Amino acid sequence: MNYVSTRAAASNPARKKFCEILLEGLAPDGGLYLPEAYPQVDAATLETWRGVYQQQGYAALAYEILALYIDDIPASDLKAICAKTYTQTVFGTPEITPLRPLEGGVFLEGLSNGPTLAFKDMAMQLLGNLFEYELARRGEQLNILGATSGDTGSAAEYALRGKQGVRVFMTSPAGRMSPFQQAQMFSLMDDNIHNMAVQGVFDDCQDMVKAVSNDLVFKRQYKIGTVNSINWARLMAQVVYYFAGYFQATENNNKKVSFAVPSGNFGNICAGHVARMMGLPIAQLVLATNENDVLDEFFRTGVYRVRGSADTHETSSPSMDISKASNFERFVFDLLGRDGTKTQALFGAALSTAGQFDLSQEACFKEAANRYGFASGKSTHSDRLATIRHTFKKFGQMIDTHTADGLKVAREHLQPGVPMVVLETALPIKFAQTIVEALGSEPTRPARFEGIESLPKRVVAMAADAAAVKGYIRQVCG
Ligand SMILES: *Cc1c(COP(=O)(O)O)cnc(C)c1O
Repeated sequence: MNYVSTRAAASNPARKKFCEILLEGLAPDGGLYLPEAYPQVDAATLETWRGVYQQQGYAALAYEILALYIDDIPASDLKAICAKTYTQTVFGTPEITPLRPLEGGVFLEGLSNGPTLAFKDMAMQLLGNLFEYELARRGEQLNILGATSGDTGSAAEYALRGKQGVRVFMTSPAGRMSPFQQAQMFSLMDDNIHNMAVQGVFDDCQDMVKAVSNDLVFKRQYKIGTVNSINWARLMAQVVYYFAGYFQATENNNKKVSFAVPSGNFGNICAGHVARMMGLPIAQLVLATNENDVLDEFFRTGVYRVRGSADTHETSSPSMDISKASNFERFVFDLLGRDGTKTQALFGAALSTAGQFDLSQEACFKEAANRYGFASGKSTHSDRLATIRHTFKKFGQMIDTHTADGLKVAREHLQPGVPMVVLETALPIKFAQTIVEALGSEPTRPARFEGIESLPKRVVAMAADAAAVKGYIRQVCG
Protein backbone atom coordinates (compact mmCIF):
# COMPACT_ATOMS: atom_id res chain seq x y z
CA MET A 1 0.00 0.00 0.00
CA ASN A 2 1.31 3.41 -1.03
CA TYR A 3 0.12 6.84 0.06
CA VAL A 4 -0.18 9.96 -2.07
CA SER A 5 -0.90 13.61 -1.31
CA THR A 6 -4.28 15.13 -2.17
CA ARG A 7 -2.35 17.89 -3.97
CA ALA A 8 0.02 15.75 -6.01
CA ALA A 9 0.00 15.89 -9.79
CA ALA A 10 -1.73 12.72 -10.98
CA SER A 11 0.93 11.91 -13.57
CA ASN A 12 3.71 11.14 -11.12
CA PRO A 13 2.77 11.47 -7.45
CA ALA A 14 5.36 10.82 -4.73
CA ARG A 15 4.46 7.48 -3.15
CA LYS A 16 5.12 6.83 0.52
CA LYS A 17 4.80 3.92 2.90
CA PHE A 18 2.67 3.93 6.02
CA CYS A 19 5.49 4.35 8.55
CA GLU A 20 6.88 7.30 6.59
CA ILE A 21 3.62 9.23 6.83
CA LEU A 22 2.89 8.05 10.40
CA LEU A 23 5.25 10.59 11.96
CA GLU A 24 4.65 13.26 9.31
CA GLY A 25 1.81 15.78 9.40
CA LEU A 26 0.96 17.45 6.14
CA ALA A 27 2.58 16.31 2.91
CA PRO A 28 5.38 18.65 1.76
CA ASP A 29 3.05 20.14 -0.89
CA GLY A 30 0.53 21.10 1.82
CA GLY A 31 -1.88 18.26 0.97
CA LEU A 32 -3.13 15.35 3.08
CA TYR A 33 -2.12 11.75 2.62
CA LEU A 34 -4.54 9.14 1.31
CA PRO A 35 -4.06 5.56 0.14
CA GLU A 36 -3.39 5.38 -3.58
CA ALA A 37 -6.49 3.19 -3.86
CA TYR A 38 -8.98 1.98 -1.25
CA PRO A 39 -8.65 -1.76 -0.61
CA GLN A 40 -11.83 -3.54 -1.71
CA VAL A 41 -13.65 -5.82 0.69
CA ASP A 42 -15.58 -8.51 -1.20
CA ALA A 43 -18.61 -10.38 0.13
CA ALA A 44 -16.57 -13.36 1.32
CA THR A 45 -14.16 -11.17 3.26
CA LEU A 46 -16.99 -9.20 4.84
CA GLU A 47 -18.54 -12.49 5.94
CA THR A 48 -15.21 -13.59 7.42
CA TRP A 49 -14.80 -10.30 9.25
CA ARG A 50 -18.26 -10.59 10.81
CA GLY A 51 -17.09 -13.86 12.32
CA VAL A 52 -13.75 -12.37 13.35
CA TYR A 53 -15.50 -9.57 15.25
CA GLN A 54 -18.04 -11.87 16.86
CA GLN A 55 -15.65 -14.64 17.83
CA GLN A 56 -12.28 -12.95 18.30
CA GLY A 57 -13.30 -9.40 19.05
CA TYR A 58 -12.56 -5.83 18.08
CA ALA A 59 -8.75 -6.04 18.23
CA ALA A 60 -8.73 -8.95 15.77
CA LEU A 61 -11.06 -7.06 13.42
CA ALA A 62 -8.83 -3.99 13.72
CA TYR A 63 -5.85 -6.10 12.69
CA GLU A 64 -7.67 -7.42 9.58
CA ILE A 65 -8.52 -3.89 8.45
CA LEU A 66 -5.22 -2.22 9.37
CA ALA A 67 -3.20 -4.94 7.65
CA LEU A 68 -4.72 -3.78 4.35
CA TYR A 69 -3.23 -0.33 4.91
CA ILE A 70 0.09 -1.15 6.56
CA ASP A 71 2.63 -3.35 4.81
CA ASP A 72 5.77 -2.08 6.49
CA ILE A 73 5.13 -3.48 9.96
CA PRO A 74 5.43 -7.28 10.30
CA ALA A 75 2.05 -8.98 10.77
CA SER A 76 2.87 -10.39 14.20
CA ASP A 77 3.91 -6.95 15.48
CA LEU A 78 0.81 -5.27 14.08
CA LYS A 79 -1.37 -7.96 15.63
CA ALA A 80 0.31 -7.38 19.00
CA ILE A 81 -0.17 -3.61 18.73
CA CYS A 82 -3.91 -4.05 18.02
CA ALA A 83 -4.28 -6.55 20.86
CA LYS A 84 -2.55 -4.23 23.31
CA THR A 85 -4.64 -1.23 22.22
CA TYR A 86 -8.23 -2.44 22.09
CA THR A 87 -8.73 -4.14 25.44
CA GLN A 88 -11.71 -4.31 27.74
CA THR A 89 -9.51 -2.78 30.48
CA VAL A 90 -8.93 0.36 28.42
CA PHE A 91 -12.35 0.63 26.72
CA GLY A 92 -14.64 -0.79 29.38
CA THR A 93 -16.61 -3.43 27.42
CA PRO A 94 -15.83 -6.59 25.44
CA GLU A 95 -17.46 -5.05 22.34
CA ILE A 96 -15.17 -1.95 22.69
CA THR A 97 -17.80 0.09 20.74
CA PRO A 98 -21.09 -1.37 22.03
CA LEU A 99 -24.42 -0.61 20.34
CA ARG A 100 -27.47 0.49 22.40
CA PRO A 101 -30.91 0.50 20.77
CA LEU A 102 -33.16 3.54 21.09
CA GLU A 103 -36.35 3.32 19.05
CA GLY A 104 -37.26 1.59 15.76
CA GLY A 105 -33.90 0.85 14.21
CA VAL A 106 -32.06 3.82 15.76
CA PHE A 107 -28.95 2.89 17.72
CA LEU A 108 -26.18 4.66 19.61
CA GLU A 109 -22.67 3.31 19.06
CA GLY A 110 -20.57 4.03 22.15
CA LEU A 111 -17.17 5.35 21.11
CA SER A 112 -16.53 7.16 24.37
CA ASN A 113 -15.72 4.56 26.96
CA GLY A 114 -11.96 4.99 26.70
CA PRO A 115 -9.64 6.81 29.15
CA THR A 116 -10.82 10.37 28.37
CA LEU A 117 -14.50 9.62 27.65
CA ALA A 118 -14.48 10.96 24.09
CA PHE A 119 -14.19 9.16 20.77
CA LYS A 120 -10.72 10.54 20.08
CA ASP A 121 -9.36 7.78 22.33
CA MET A 122 -10.38 5.23 19.66
CA ALA A 123 -7.65 6.50 17.34
CA MET A 124 -5.24 8.13 19.74
CA GLN A 125 -4.69 4.98 21.82
CA LEU A 126 -3.59 3.18 18.66
CA LEU A 127 -1.45 6.13 17.56
CA GLY A 128 0.38 6.12 20.91
CA ASN A 129 1.32 2.48 20.49
CA LEU A 130 2.28 2.92 16.82
CA PHE A 131 4.48 5.91 17.69
CA GLU A 132 6.25 4.04 20.49
CA TYR A 133 6.83 1.06 18.19
CA GLU A 134 8.16 3.06 15.24
CA LEU A 135 10.34 5.39 17.33
CA ALA A 136 11.95 2.40 19.06
CA ARG A 137 12.53 0.73 15.69
CA ARG A 138 14.30 3.86 14.40
CA GLY A 139 16.04 4.63 17.70
CA GLU A 140 14.53 8.11 17.57
CA GLN A 141 12.88 10.50 20.01
CA LEU A 142 9.93 12.79 19.34
CA ASN A 143 8.53 15.80 21.18
CA ILE A 144 4.84 16.21 20.44
CA LEU A 145 3.74 19.84 20.59
CA GLY A 146 0.04 20.59 20.50
CA ALA A 147 -2.74 23.03 21.28
CA THR A 148 -6.04 21.93 22.73
CA SER A 149 -9.30 23.39 23.90
CA GLY A 150 -10.26 20.07 25.48
CA ASP A 151 -10.69 16.60 23.98
CA THR A 152 -7.69 16.27 21.66
CA GLY A 153 -5.07 17.24 24.23
CA SER A 154 -6.28 14.90 26.90
CA ALA A 155 -6.71 12.02 24.43
CA ALA A 156 -3.10 12.56 23.26
CA GLU A 157 -1.75 12.71 26.80
CA TYR A 158 -3.56 9.57 27.93
CA ALA A 159 -2.33 7.77 24.81
CA LEU A 160 1.32 8.80 25.21
CA ARG A 161 1.77 8.91 28.99
CA GLY A 162 4.65 6.74 30.11
CA LYS A 163 5.60 5.81 26.52
CA GLN A 164 9.25 5.43 25.58
CA GLY A 165 10.86 7.89 23.17
CA VAL A 166 8.15 10.52 23.24
CA ARG A 167 7.28 13.60 25.30
CA VAL A 168 4.09 15.64 25.08
CA PHE A 169 4.03 19.43 25.35
CA MET A 170 0.41 20.57 25.39
CA THR A 171 -0.76 24.18 25.42
CA SER A 172 -4.29 25.08 26.48
CA PRO A 173 -5.99 28.42 27.21
CA ALA A 174 -5.75 29.08 30.96
CA GLY A 175 -9.08 28.76 32.74
CA ARG A 176 -11.10 28.07 29.60
CA MET A 177 -11.51 24.32 29.70
CA SER A 178 -14.18 22.81 31.94
CA PRO A 179 -12.96 21.93 35.49
CA PHE A 180 -13.36 18.26 34.58
CA GLN A 181 -11.23 18.63 31.42
CA GLN A 182 -8.54 20.55 33.31
CA ALA A 183 -8.46 17.93 36.03
CA GLN A 184 -8.18 15.13 33.45
CA MET A 185 -5.07 16.66 31.89
CA PHE A 186 -3.35 18.38 34.79
CA SER A 187 -3.60 15.47 37.21
CA LEU A 188 -1.27 13.35 35.04
CA MET A 189 2.03 12.96 36.90
CA ASP A 190 3.95 11.07 34.19
CA ASP A 191 7.44 12.46 33.59
CA ASN A 192 6.88 12.72 29.82
CA ILE A 193 3.71 14.84 30.00
CA HIS A 194 4.06 18.64 30.13
CA ASN A 195 1.03 20.93 30.40
CA MET A 196 1.23 24.63 29.69
CA ALA A 197 -1.69 26.90 30.67
CA VAL A 198 -1.44 29.86 28.34
CA GLN A 199 -2.64 33.39 29.13
CA GLY A 200 -4.87 33.66 26.08
CA VAL A 201 -7.51 31.88 24.00
CA PHE A 202 -7.28 28.68 21.96
CA ASP A 203 -6.25 30.57 18.80
CA ASP A 204 -3.25 32.02 20.71
CA CYS A 205 -2.22 28.47 21.62
CA GLN A 206 -2.55 27.34 18.03
CA ASP A 207 -0.57 30.35 16.76
CA MET A 208 2.25 29.58 19.20
CA VAL A 209 2.40 25.96 18.06
CA LYS A 210 2.51 27.11 14.44
CA ALA A 211 5.25 29.67 15.20
CA VAL A 212 7.40 27.05 16.94
CA SER A 213 6.84 24.52 14.12
CA ASN A 214 7.73 27.14 11.50
CA ASP A 215 11.13 27.64 13.13
CA LEU A 216 12.68 24.81 11.13
CA VAL A 217 16.01 24.93 12.96
CA PHE A 218 14.32 24.60 16.35
CA LYS A 219 11.91 21.99 14.95
CA ARG A 220 14.76 19.80 13.73
CA GLN A 221 16.96 20.27 16.80
CA TYR A 222 14.16 19.38 19.23
CA LYS A 223 12.39 16.85 16.97
CA ILE A 224 9.01 18.54 17.18
CA GLY A 225 6.05 16.52 15.93
CA THR A 226 2.24 16.65 16.13
CA VAL A 227 -0.72 14.33 16.58
CA ASN A 228 -3.33 16.51 14.90
CA SER A 229 -6.50 15.32 13.28
CA ILE A 230 -5.11 15.20 9.75
CA ASN A 231 -2.84 12.28 10.64
CA TRP A 232 -3.83 9.37 8.39
CA ALA A 233 -3.25 6.79 11.12
CA ARG A 234 -5.96 8.38 13.25
CA LEU A 235 -8.43 8.29 10.40
CA MET A 236 -7.56 4.69 9.54
CA ALA A 237 -8.11 3.58 13.15
CA GLN A 238 -11.60 5.09 13.02
CA VAL A 239 -12.59 3.00 9.99
CA VAL A 240 -12.74 -0.07 12.23
CA TYR A 241 -15.72 1.02 14.34
CA TYR A 242 -17.88 1.55 11.25
CA PHE A 243 -17.43 -2.15 10.53
CA ALA A 244 -17.98 -3.08 14.19
CA GLY A 245 -21.14 -0.92 14.27
CA TYR A 246 -22.43 -2.50 11.06
CA PHE A 247 -21.92 -6.05 12.36
CA GLN A 248 -23.80 -5.23 15.55
CA ALA A 249 -26.71 -3.50 13.83
CA THR A 250 -27.35 -6.30 11.29
CA GLU A 251 -27.75 -10.06 11.25
CA ASN A 252 -26.20 -10.55 7.84
CA ASN A 253 -24.38 -8.61 5.16
CA ASN A 254 -27.37 -8.18 2.84
CA LYS A 255 -28.56 -5.18 4.76
CA LYS A 256 -27.52 -1.54 4.51
CA VAL A 257 -26.98 0.70 7.51
CA SER A 258 -26.74 4.50 7.80
CA PHE A 259 -24.45 6.33 10.19
CA ALA A 260 -25.02 9.77 11.72
CA VAL A 261 -21.86 11.58 12.76
CA PRO A 262 -21.46 14.70 14.94
CA SER A 263 -18.83 16.52 12.89
CA GLY A 264 -16.22 19.22 13.29
CA ASN A 265 -12.97 18.67 11.44
CA PHE A 266 -14.52 15.94 9.24
CA GLY A 267 -12.15 13.28 10.61
CA ASN A 268 -14.76 10.93 12.03
CA ILE A 269 -17.14 10.97 9.07
CA CYS A 270 -14.23 10.79 6.63
CA ALA A 271 -13.42 7.40 8.17
CA GLY A 272 -17.02 6.44 7.35
CA HIS A 273 -16.45 7.54 3.78
CA VAL A 274 -13.35 5.33 3.62
CA ALA A 275 -15.29 2.36 5.05
CA ARG A 276 -18.01 2.90 2.41
CA MET A 277 -15.39 3.15 -0.36
CA MET A 278 -13.97 -0.17 0.84
CA GLY A 279 -17.38 -1.75 0.26
CA LEU A 280 -19.09 -1.64 3.67
CA PRO A 281 -22.84 -1.52 2.84
CA ILE A 282 -23.52 2.01 4.13
CA ALA A 283 -26.69 3.68 2.82
CA GLN A 284 -26.20 7.25 4.06
CA LEU A 285 -23.47 9.12 5.88
CA VAL A 286 -25.42 11.75 7.77
CA LEU A 287 -23.27 14.69 8.77
CA ALA A 288 -24.43 16.76 11.75
CA THR A 289 -23.03 20.17 12.64
CA ASN A 290 -23.83 22.58 15.45
CA GLU A 291 -24.28 26.32 14.88
CA ASN A 292 -20.89 26.26 13.14
CA ASP A 293 -22.44 24.90 9.97
CA VAL A 294 -19.70 25.29 7.35
CA LEU A 295 -20.04 21.60 6.37
CA ASP A 296 -23.84 21.47 6.38
CA GLU A 297 -23.76 24.53 4.12
CA PHE A 298 -21.47 22.73 1.68
CA PHE A 299 -23.61 19.60 1.45
CA ARG A 300 -26.77 21.69 1.02
CA THR A 301 -25.44 24.29 -1.46
CA GLY A 302 -22.10 23.21 -2.92
CA VAL A 303 -20.38 26.28 -1.49
CA TYR A 304 -17.56 25.71 0.98
CA ARG A 305 -17.08 28.97 2.85
CA VAL A 306 -14.64 28.97 5.76
CA ARG A 307 -15.46 31.27 8.65
CA GLY A 308 -13.40 33.93 10.38
CA SER A 309 -12.95 33.84 14.14
CA ALA A 310 -15.70 36.48 14.54
CA ASP A 311 -18.13 34.07 12.81
CA THR A 312 -17.06 31.02 14.79
CA HIS A 313 -19.55 30.52 17.60
CA GLU A 314 -18.79 29.22 21.07
CA THR A 315 -21.45 26.55 21.54
CA SER A 316 -22.51 23.91 24.03
CA SER A 317 -21.02 21.23 21.73
CA PRO A 318 -17.58 22.89 21.79
CA SER A 319 -15.61 20.07 20.15
CA MET A 320 -17.46 20.89 16.91
CA ASP A 321 -16.73 24.63 17.04
CA ILE A 322 -14.63 24.90 13.92
CA SER A 323 -14.16 27.58 11.27
CA LYS A 324 -12.81 25.20 8.63
CA ALA A 325 -12.74 21.42 8.51
CA SER A 326 -9.15 20.23 8.27
CA ASN A 327 -9.96 16.75 6.88
CA PHE A 328 -12.52 17.88 4.31
CA GLU A 329 -9.87 18.09 1.60
CA ARG A 330 -9.66 14.30 1.60
CA PHE A 331 -13.29 13.88 0.57
CA VAL A 332 -13.16 16.69 -2.00
CA PHE A 333 -10.14 15.01 -3.59
CA ASP A 334 -12.25 11.88 -4.12
CA LEU A 335 -15.24 13.95 -5.26
CA LEU A 336 -13.05 15.63 -7.90
CA GLY A 337 -12.08 12.21 -9.27
CA ARG A 338 -8.77 12.33 -7.38
CA ASP A 339 -7.51 15.33 -9.31
CA GLY A 340 -4.64 16.72 -7.18
CA THR A 341 -4.14 19.76 -9.38
CA LYS A 342 -7.78 20.77 -8.98
CA THR A 343 -7.67 20.05 -5.24
CA GLN A 344 -4.60 22.27 -4.97
CA ALA A 345 -6.43 25.06 -6.82
CA LEU A 346 -9.39 24.89 -4.42
CA PHE A 347 -7.67 24.36 -1.07
CA GLY A 348 -4.36 26.05 -1.80
CA ALA A 349 -5.35 29.04 -3.92
CA ALA A 350 -9.12 29.70 -3.73
CA LEU A 351 -9.45 29.29 0.03
CA SER A 352 -6.48 31.49 0.85
CA THR A 353 -7.56 34.30 -1.47
CA ALA A 354 -11.39 34.19 -1.52
CA GLY A 355 -11.99 32.17 1.66
CA GLN A 356 -14.40 29.94 -0.26
CA PHE A 357 -15.01 27.81 -3.32
CA ASP A 358 -18.17 26.89 -5.14
CA LEU A 359 -18.88 23.45 -6.65
CA SER A 360 -22.62 24.01 -7.04
CA GLN A 361 -22.40 24.18 -10.84
CA GLU A 362 -20.07 21.18 -11.19
CA ALA A 363 -21.51 17.80 -12.09
CA CYS A 364 -19.50 16.17 -9.31
CA PHE A 365 -21.38 18.06 -6.58
CA LYS A 366 -24.50 15.92 -7.11
CA GLU A 367 -22.35 12.84 -6.56
CA ALA A 368 -21.73 13.84 -2.92
CA ALA A 369 -25.28 12.68 -2.22
CA ASN A 370 -25.99 10.28 -5.09
CA ARG A 371 -22.76 8.37 -5.33
CA TYR A 372 -21.09 8.93 -1.94
CA GLY A 373 -24.23 8.84 0.23
CA PHE A 374 -23.78 12.12 2.09
CA ALA A 375 -26.67 13.94 3.75
CA SER A 376 -26.44 16.70 6.31
CA GLY A 377 -28.19 18.87 8.85
CA LYS A 378 -27.60 21.26 11.70
CA SER A 379 -28.52 21.40 15.36
CA THR A 380 -28.65 24.39 17.71
CA HIS A 381 -28.47 24.85 21.46
CA SER A 382 -32.24 24.51 21.89
CA ASP A 383 -32.33 21.39 19.66
CA ARG A 384 -29.56 19.94 21.81
CA LEU A 385 -31.44 20.56 25.06
CA ALA A 386 -34.67 19.13 23.60
CA THR A 387 -32.91 16.02 22.29
CA ILE A 388 -31.09 15.36 25.58
CA ARG A 389 -34.37 15.79 27.48
CA HIS A 390 -36.42 13.61 25.12
CA THR A 391 -33.80 10.84 25.05
CA PHE A 392 -33.64 10.79 28.84
CA LYS A 393 -37.41 10.85 29.38
CA LYS A 394 -38.29 8.32 26.71
CA PHE A 395 -35.39 5.87 26.91
CA GLY A 396 -33.73 6.63 30.26
CA GLN A 397 -30.46 7.26 28.38
CA MET A 398 -28.30 10.27 29.10
CA ILE A 399 -26.42 11.54 26.05
CA ASP A 400 -23.84 14.28 25.64
CA THR A 401 -24.30 17.49 23.66
CA HIS A 402 -22.38 16.35 20.55
CA THR A 403 -24.21 13.05 20.38
CA ALA A 404 -27.47 14.99 20.73
CA ASP A 405 -26.58 16.99 17.60
CA GLY A 406 -26.00 13.70 15.78
CA LEU A 407 -29.28 12.18 16.96
CA LYS A 408 -31.30 15.30 16.10
CA VAL A 409 -30.03 15.30 12.50
CA ALA A 410 -30.24 11.49 12.22
CA ARG A 411 -34.01 11.67 12.81
CA GLU A 412 -34.36 13.98 9.80
CA HIS A 413 -32.85 11.33 7.52
CA LEU A 414 -34.42 8.04 8.60
CA GLN A 415 -35.30 5.62 5.79
CA PRO A 416 -37.72 2.71 6.22
CA GLY A 417 -35.93 -0.57 6.89
CA VAL A 418 -32.46 1.00 7.17
CA PRO A 419 -30.97 0.98 10.68
CA MET A 420 -29.47 4.33 11.71
CA VAL A 421 -26.37 4.19 13.91
CA VAL A 422 -25.63 7.46 15.72
CA LEU A 423 -22.03 7.73 16.84
CA GLU A 424 -21.73 8.67 20.51
CA THR A 425 -18.66 10.91 20.55
CA ALA A 426 -18.44 11.83 24.25
CA LEU A 427 -20.01 10.98 27.60
CA PRO A 428 -22.31 13.56 29.24
CA ILE A 429 -20.04 14.04 32.28
CA LYS A 430 -17.62 15.99 30.09
CA PHE A 431 -20.26 18.65 29.44
CA ALA A 432 -22.07 18.68 32.78
CA GLN A 433 -23.23 22.28 32.63
CA THR A 434 -25.48 21.74 29.60
CA ILE A 435 -26.79 18.46 31.01
CA VAL A 436 -27.84 20.32 34.15
CA GLU A 437 -29.51 22.94 31.96
CA ALA A 438 -31.41 20.23 30.06
CA LEU A 439 -32.28 17.81 32.85
CA GLY A 440 -31.92 19.77 36.07
CA SER A 441 -29.50 17.25 37.51
CA GLU A 442 -25.82 16.32 37.29
CA PRO A 443 -24.79 13.61 34.83
CA THR A 444 -23.61 10.30 36.17
CA ARG A 445 -19.87 10.06 36.66
CA PRO A 446 -17.89 6.84 36.08
CA ALA A 447 -16.38 5.68 39.39
CA ARG A 448 -12.81 6.18 38.25
CA PHE A 449 -13.40 9.91 37.88
CA GLU A 450 -14.81 10.52 41.38
CA GLY A 451 -13.12 13.55 42.91
CA ILE A 452 -10.56 14.14 40.13
CA GLU A 453 -11.05 17.92 40.42
CA SER A 454 -9.32 17.85 43.82
CA LEU A 455 -6.25 15.82 42.74
CA PRO A 456 -2.87 17.61 42.70
CA LYS A 457 -2.18 19.41 39.40
CA ARG A 458 0.98 19.54 37.33
CA VAL A 459 0.93 22.50 34.91
CA VAL A 460 3.08 25.57 34.23
CA ALA A 461 1.66 29.02 33.50
CA MET A 462 2.91 30.51 30.25
CA ALA A 463 2.62 33.85 28.45
CA ALA A 464 1.10 33.71 24.94
CA ASP A 465 4.57 33.91 23.47
CA ALA A 466 6.27 31.33 21.24
CA ALA A 467 9.66 32.22 22.71
CA ALA A 468 8.40 31.20 26.16
CA VAL A 469 7.25 27.81 24.81
CA LYS A 470 10.64 27.24 23.16
CA GLY A 471 12.40 28.18 26.39
CA TYR A 472 10.32 25.65 28.30
CA ILE A 473 10.98 22.87 25.77
CA ARG A 474 14.75 23.61 25.92
CA GLN A 475 14.67 23.51 29.68
CA VAL A 476 12.84 20.16 29.81
CA CYS A 477 14.90 18.50 27.06
CA GLY A 478 18.19 19.72 28.57
C1 LIG B 1 -13.53 15.90 18.00
C2 LIG B 1 -14.96 15.72 18.36
C3 LIG B 1 -15.99 15.79 17.40
C4 LIG B 1 -15.73 16.14 15.94
O1 LIG B 1 -15.06 15.13 15.27
P1 LIG B 1 -14.34 15.43 13.85
O2 LIG B 1 -13.56 14.22 13.57
O3 LIG B 1 -13.46 16.64 14.11
O4 LIG B 1 -15.39 15.72 12.87
C5 LIG B 1 -17.30 15.54 17.80
N1 LIG B 1 -17.59 15.27 19.08
C6 LIG B 1 -16.63 15.21 20.04
C7 LIG B 1 -17.03 14.94 21.45
C8 LIG B 1 -15.28 15.43 19.73
O5 LIG B 1 -14.35 15.36 20.68
